[in-house]
Amino acid sequence: MISVTPEITLDIQQSLKRFFGFDTFRGKQEAVIRHLMKGNDCFVIMPTGAGKSLCYQLPAIMMPGTALVISPLIALMKNQVDQLQALGIEAGFLNSSLSKSEYEQVKAKTISQELKLLYVAPESLVKEEFIEFLNQANISFVAVDEVHCISEWGHDFRPEYRRIRQILQYIPKVPLIALTATATPKVQLDIQHNLQLENAELFLTSFNRHNLYYEIRPKHNPIEQIIRFIKQNEGKSGIIYCLSRRKVEEISSLLNVNGIKAVPYHAGLDSSARTQHQDMFLKEQVQVVVATIAFGMGIDKPDVRYVIHYDVPKSIEGYYQETGRAGRDGLEGNCILFYDFSDIIKLEKFMKDKPLSERESGKHLLYEMASFSESGACRRKQLLHYFGESFEDARCSSMCDNCRYPKEKFDASTLVKSALQAVQETGGKFGVAHLVNILKGSRNQQILLYHHDQLKSHGLHTEKSEKEWKSIFTQLILQDFLMKDIDDYGVIRLEKKGEEYLKNPYPIQLIKYHEIEKIERDPVVAEDFKAFDEILFDKLKKLRKDIAREKDIPPYIIFQDPSLEDMAAKYPITLTEFQNIQGVGSGKAQKFAAPFLKLIQQYVEENEIERTAEIVVKTSGKNSANKLFIIQHIDRKTPLDEIAQLKNMSMEELMEEIEHIIYSGTRLNIDYYIQEVIDEDKQDEIYAYFRHSDTDNLSLAQQELGNVYSPEEVQLIRAKFYSEMAN
Ligand code: ADP
Ligand code: MG
Ligand code: ZN
Repeated sequence: MISVTPEITLDIQQSLKRFFGFDTFRGKQEAVIRHLMKGNDCFVIMPTGAGKSLCYQLPAIMMPGTALVISPLIALMKNQVDQLQALGIEAGFLNSSLSKSEYEQVKAKTISQELKLLYVAPESLVKEEFIEFLNQANISFVAVDEVHCISEWGHDFRPEYRRIRQILQYIPKVPLIALTATATPKVQLDIQHNLQLENAELFLTSFNRHNLYYEIRPKHNPIEQIIRFIKQNEGKSGIIYCLSRRKVEEISSLLNVNGIKAVPYHAGLDSSARTQHQDMFLKEQVQVVVATIAFGMGIDKPDVRYVIHYDVPKSIEGYYQETGRAGRDGLEGNCILFYDFSDIIKLEKFMKDKPLSERESGKHLLYEMASFSESGACRRKQLLHYFGESFEDARCSSMCDNCRYPKEKFDASTLVKSALQAVQETGGKFGVAHLVNILKGSRNQQILLYHHDQLKSHGLHTEKSEKEWKSIFTQLILQDFLMKDIDDYGVIRLEKKGEEYLKNPYPIQLIKYHEIEKIERDPVVAEDFKAFDEILFDKLKKLRKDIAREKDIPPYIIFQDPSLEDMAAKYPITLTEFQNIQGVGSGKAQKFAAPFLKLIQQYVEENEIERTAEIVVKTSGKNSANKLFIIQHIDRKTPLDEIAQLKNMSMEELMEEIEHIIYSGTRLNIDYYIQEVIDEDKQDEIYAYFRHSDTDNLSLAQQELGNVYSPEEVQLIRAKFYSEMAN
């Protein structure tokens, strides 16, 4: 173990590298850590996979005393502590799973300040003797993880969480850090109120998960599709969500019959079976867990590569939390939902015995989910819009089905005007269903009651179907012409942009409505563009699994996938090189480096790999999707200007990406395009220049070639030259 004495106040940047092996902080991690270490309260709201744990783990290591971490899941505490111990950090937990002597031992280690982190469940906190014990310890600060459990409005309400604040009165005042991935404002307010965090600094980051690929498929032969998908993704872990226990059991056994190792997980299983199945999944003894929503919170397996929804979830919030469990390490994460409108109807029927208000809000959430699923607009944009975030500046980069296979558009100016007019004429007091009835010229009771058959907009477009109209309203809300007031029965109001449109209309294109049922295509799911040695990666993965089995811990505790990828890109063979690998701190290097170094050394020798001192260009999830897209289209000989258009990029941006791909070692043949746009003699002249020139500077080339070629022409030939010479 690395001993950390309070006297050594390491720079936090250095500590990040030393203990966790990371070079940079992510998002607001550093700001949170500095704020906390100055003795202030923090309220951290970041999506799953953002790296919230580090926000308290690093300060815990650096500050004198022991950090008290309150976390809801006893079954996962051991796991979290194992992860820290693998990093060389002293941590422990107290819960009912320990024997009397183990329990006392952990207490003693806390009092002697040997432990840097102590994990407890809220139910242990309330005991009087526990408060006595805490008063003997030197608590550096308190972290409340998964803090949304405090709220009844959240999806994982734990009544014991409500007592936390009260208990804290009995121990000396220390800073408090509360963390959650919840996205709903109502729950956020509830947390602030309950923990008296009104004065705590709020650290909120975007909910965008750039590496997740969202896809909705019609529910045709879902089992067959699921089995095919899993077989294509052999060796990768995944979760399948179903709504009923019966379905969970059924699908789990179907998968096993088909040679896929899967376990069921739902609240009907006894707790030892649940723990066992969860453990088997974490340790990769099974590939898939088939589960109800009872599974997932706090599971920090970083390399879940897909989350499949066999049934439609009950709300967008639920969908978002569940899909969020894919790709926490920032690498591949595929989210596939099988949608069938009759599932919505079924769910609605299940609610019929609930009190009216609950039924109403349940139905509302359900229909939001339906319209999300049926929409042709960017999924990512819709999700972020739902959580009150606008997504104007960032591109989805074809990381959702609707961006990857764009739907046909049509000139919607007249329809837009009519829709906005209907909202204006009714004073922004009605929901979409009623507005659609007006436009379709209905004379139902409601319409007659409000005399809405007298409106100018009444019956303006009887030819459009209800679904077509709903799709138009969804898009107008997404584009901020209209807003839907969720807190006020979902009534639709006119936004400034909408008012202006009515005064000065202009041509506008909207996505045509398509019945999801009728969408015919062979779904292909994103596979990351690999900038590393895949054969070596697989060998490293196997080695990791063998060691994990021997030590009886989950493989990712040894090294996570990003570390293995980095090894397979840089081929480290000395301990120093090894410590430069992402996610390898000194603790992990000491514990685990040897067998990995040996394997890499052997591999490098056998395959006569020339290791370069240069760092191989690494790609983030989003970039790799872009790259994959570009490579595939160049293979298909799509004209470059068309690729740029498809990706919503300028030609310069596209050329930059192409050069990047070539520089990192992939050969791209763009002759088909060059042939189209540059005369053959010109091509030869520019090519000859690069052959003999000792610089590849573009403007210099242009100059020396007598300024007769456009920068684009010169750049195209330079890319060709590099691809042919360097690769
Ligand atoms: P959250 O609790 O926010 O869902 P975690 O704390 O479980 O997220 O972290 C998710 C993943 O991100 C883990 O695999 C973790 O190792 C990784 N991670 C955290 N911080 C960094 C960082 N600064 N650089 C690289 N990876 C990081
Ligand atoms: Mg977490
Ligand atoms: Zn998209």
